[in-house]
Amino acid sequence: MIDQYNRTIDYLRISVTDRCNFRCVYCMPEEGVAQLCHHDILTFDEIIKICKSAVKLGIHRIKITGGEPLLRKDLEHLIRMIHEIDGIHELTMTTNGYYLEERLEALKEAGITGINISIDTLDEGAFENITRHEGLEKVVSSLRKAIAIQIPSVKVNCVPMKQNEKDLCQIAALAKEYPVHVRFIEMMPIGLGELFQGIYQDKILSQLERIYGIARPCRERLGNGPARYYSFPEFQGKIGFISAMSHEFCEDCNRIRLTADGDLKLCLNYGSRWNLRDFIRSGASEKQLTEYMYQAIYHKPRRHGFLEIKGCEKEIRKMAGIGG
Ligand code: SAM
Ligand code: SF4
Repeated sequence: MIDQYNRTIDYLRISVTDRCNFRCVYCMPEEGVAQLCHHDILTFDEIIKICKSAVKLGIHRIKITGGEPLLRKDLEHLIRMIHEIDGIHELTMTTNGYYLEERLEALKEAGITGINISIDTLDEGAFENITRHEGLEKVVSSLRKAIAIQIPSVKVNCVPMKQNEKDLCQIAALAKEYPVHVRFIEMMPIGLGELFQGIYQDKILSQLERIYGIARPCRERLGNGPARYYSFPEFQGKIGFISAMSHEFCEDCNRIRLTADGDLKLCLNYGSRWNLRDFIRSGASEKQLTEYMYQAIYHKPRRHGFLEIKGCEKEIRKMAGIGG
């Protein structure tokens, strides 16, 4: 559908849980966060109702996220249910990769079309400092297996900051060694992210060019959204940048988000006034749900205003509660 600023909205990110086994320093406090109770979380049937209304509104691409989505029981079953909805063209997932390896075949079989694995560093010590968890080897092994069993699209996501600055070229080189795209996501001042200084696109790009040669911008569109991609000589995959801070892309933003407890979020930086779980549980029909979602999405804010929005409009959830 088209929103009030003439943007086509065709991509929905669904958080299926607020829980996570990792405690990434910029995302989750060490002691964790108060968790949603079982009753507050959208059921699979409610998620399917929302997906069906979303498809009616022209949303054809869905990303499953969290918290850590693989902690949601029977996730493969949900993936299959979404996959079976007519009109879903892409069904992808973003994960920290820790529990992925043993689930890959089942996910592929259920209909997943792409998996993004978050890897901020390939240095074991830095990995443990950033995630406050062991397991780099398990995560890299998941990446290798996702490529080996030919998940249609495999990507690596990395958030650059002081804590992994020295490791970024090595992370980028994953796209040389493997046929995967590596994307650098600029740190956004949401939740704990406000306490971290990110490293921005231009600095990383020139560092990479010094080592790997001239970067050529790609013309074709790859993936769901705002990433700008570059190719480097002898790389199998591309290097992408999602640069919400240094190269704002709100004018072309195509996405909305659903939190695990049913809030429809129209922009990462704004709190939500639209709870779809409560609307469904009040007995709304499919037609009413679709109309409600239309009204919400139509009013998607024009810009994230990360550096301007303060007070009651601003999102106060942590990123793990939103889904990134
Ligand atoms: N646990 C899964 C994972 O790590 O991929 C899915 C949820 S996580 C919130 C989704 C993505 O958001 C991850 O790639 C993570 O690095 C990113 N993220 C979390 N906080 C962020 C922030 N403040 N700014 C930018 N990206 C952030
Ligand atoms: Fe968990 Fe992903 Fe947040 Fe890390 S970024 S704490 S893996 S939800």
